[in-house]
Parts: sequence; structure tokens; C-alpha cells
Amino acid sequence: MSATDATALKRRVCAAIDERRDDLVALAESIAAEPELGFKEVETTRKVVDAFEGLGLDAETEIVVTGARARYGDGPAVGAVLGELDALVNPEHPDADPETGACHACGHHAQIANLVGAAVGLVGADAADELGGAVEFVAVPAEEYLDLDYRRGLVEAGEIEFFGGKQELIRRGYLDDVDFATMIHAGSDVPHREITSDFSTNGFVGKSVTYRGREAHAGAAPEEGVNALNAATLGLNAVHAQRETFRDEDAVRVHPILTRGGDGVNVVPSEARLEAYVRARTVEAVLDANEKVDRALESGAMAVGADVAIEDHPGYLPLRTDPTIVDAHDENVAFVADDVTITEGRPHLAGSTDMGDVTQVLPGIHPWVGGFEGSVHSREFRVVDEEMAYVVPAKVTACTLVDLLTDDAKLAAIREARDAKLSTDEYLDRVRSMRTDSTATYSD
Ligand SMILES: [Zn+2]
Ligand SMILES: [Zn+2]
Repeated sequence: MSATDATALKRRVCAAIDERRDDLVALAESIAAEPELGFKEVETTRKVVDAFEGLGLDAETEIVVTGARARYGDGPAVGAVLGELDALVNPEHPDADPETGACHACGHHAQIANLVGAAVGLVGADAADELGGAVEFVAVPAEEYLDLDYRRGLVEAGEIEFFGGKQELIRRGYLDDVDFATMIHAGSDVPHREITSDFSTNGFVGKSVTYRGREAHAGAAPEEGVNALNAATLGLNAVHAQRETFRDEDAVRVHPILTRGGDGVNVVPSEARLEAYVRARTVEAVLDANEKVDRALESGAMAVGADVAIEDHPGYLPLRTDPTIVDAHDENVAFVADDVTITEGRPHLAGSTDMGDVTQVLPGIHPWVGGFEGSVHSREFRVVDEEMAYVVPAKVTACTLVDLLTDDAKLAAIREARDAKLSTDEYLDRVRSMRTDSTATYSD
């Protein structure tokens, strides 16, 4: 296809999205008004399926407990557009569900406008015959890493192996046939028209830590007890003493919380529990910091003669963006809107996403888009620019798909990049190797 033809097709794609603009805004708002947590997104999935079917696409449902996908176009699938379905818990948010505290304070509802909007553009422009392959539109559950007791139940019931929806998507082979994946994410306190398309994020390992001592009367006979809370606080302080050894360039973040510290104030605590993430820019740096954290946690048990059980579960892998897709994306930002700026440089964000896992197996992008006021996850987070939050990204995504699916040189570069990524089996080995279980015993 000539560049002129691709430009004409992209104009039709944008016109089709403009025509359905109000439907896309209404869909996003309806999802924000009915927030559901990860692997529970039943109504949200139904809304996406209705939208897919309204476009004449066949939807496959319950792809990862919840979620759905639909394919558009002829031939094998080349690209995938992902959108996250889940909300998070922040009862302070004005739109929070009064019962569950769930709210869309991470802007995932805008991702669904992008996902469905890109499909609206391609279907509405009748683009299939002009594209060199099909596109998978995938509504993915459970990006937020929370509600873990419920997810542990799903693991025990054999429904999932991993806590992240995209990790499951990879494990189940849904991305085996595609060459690249794109999605968008709400920017954190970016009310103006700016998009950050080229950046990296931290990976992490999740930790559950249990100190066990022995209860005793806290006033009359503390010498007969082993204080698990003391072991935990010493362990926490020993973790803090590691911080000066973390290199700035590794962007290490260790943020433990104490989730159990005793049951009655007149009894020496026999059990104390912590949860923590250990994050860093590379998997190597995560593992290095994690070794120091384990050593530090163990020292608390050693000091008071308690036992400590450390359970590690795979978190998310670092996100790496693909230069060919970033370039095509940025060119289409300029094509779609002349008032949107692209962030300079290549920032590193110390947070994490399971899109990181996807970019370890596939070339991909995960641009942060403006139009949102307040930090993500905070009570202040809200949409302030509907056009920027819901409509512009859908046009950019659809036009980027057109460019990548009509340009053999770009597709060849992406396929070469894909071959250098982890295979599904290599990916699974890597994340499974982060699941460990150890106990150190210092009790008599
Ligand atoms: Zn979030
Ligand atoms: Zn998010």
C-alpha cells in the first residue's frame, strides 16, 4: 500500500471514531460508574462484549476468568490492542462503590474507550482488505495487584496461576500468534494534552513474611515469651539499613507494611506478619535487592530467637517499549492532533505494570496520556478533558495499527525485535523462578 493510501485510510478511521465519539464517552463513563475489581469484572466485560458485537465482531468471553477478545480482519493476527478492565480500592474517592471501595482511580475505563474506539475506527472505515493481517482486541482483567486473598482462592481452585491478568493471558497462549501489542494508560496528574510514549518501569517481586515466636504474659512473665513483633520491627529496620547499598540507577523501591503485630496488648505477640514489594529497574537488580531484604528480615528472627517464613510470589516484569512502535505512534499523535505534545527524553517510572510482562515477550507500547487531573490511585483523580482521555488515543491507536499493518519494513523490524524477546516457555520459567518459599528457624 502506498503512503497516500495509508493516509486516506487513516482519515476514514478518524472520521469513523468521530462519528461514534459520544458512544465511546458514554461507555467509559458507564464503566467508571460501575467499578469492579480484578477477576470480578463481569458487568464491565459484558459492556465490552456488547460493544464488540455491536460492531459485528464475534467475542470470546471468560478468557482469563473474566475478560473478552474479538478479532477483526483477514489472515493471521498481527497486532493486539489491550485494555484493562479492573478498578482499584480507594474508599476516599468520590466515585468509589460504597460497598467495595472500588473506583476507577487508575483510569482503566479510558483504556476501554481506547480499545473499543480503535475497533470502531477500523471496522467503521471497512479497513480489513487494506490491512496485511488481523487485529486482536483484548479486554484484560486484573492489572492492579490487590485483593490477594480472593486471588489466592482462585489459585487454590486451579483457575489462575498468576495474580496478574496479562501474565495469565501469556500463560494461556493468547499472545502466541501476534507480533506486537499496544495499550494506553492514564497519565498521573497530566491534565494537559501530553503523551509519554517512550519510557521504562520497574519490575518487582511480592513478599509475604510471617514471624513466629511464643506468647506469654506481657507483664508477669515476658521472659517466657519470644516476641514476634520485636523480630518483625528489627527485620524492618535491618531492611532500612540496606538502602544506602542500592544504586541510584537501579531505582530500587522496598516498601513493606506490617499487617499483623499482635492480638492483645497483655500477651507477648506470638505472630507478626509483613507484606512487601521489592522493585527495581531490571530483574537482576530486583533479585539482588531481594537477597539483601531476605537476609535483613532473617536477622530480626535471629536476634530474638524466633522463626521466620518468607514467601515470594512473582510480581510484574520491567516494561520496555519498542522503538519502531514508539516512532509510528508518535507520528500518528502529530497526524491526529496538532495540540498534543510528546514528552521529551525517556523517563523511568519506579511503579510497575503487567504490561511489563507483555513487553518481555512481545514488542509493545503503553503510552501515558493526558486529560486526567490528580495522581493515579488518589481521591483527586478524575477526567478533565474527555476528548484527550477517550477519543484522541483511540484515533492514534487505530492509525498506528494502520501504519504497522500496511508497512512491510516496519513489520519486519517488529518481527525481528519479537524474535529477540523471551519465548512463552522462557517467560514462564523466569516468573516461576521468582516463586520461592523459605523458613529460617532460630527458636529452641
Ligand atoms: Zn493502577
Ligand atoms: Zn493502571
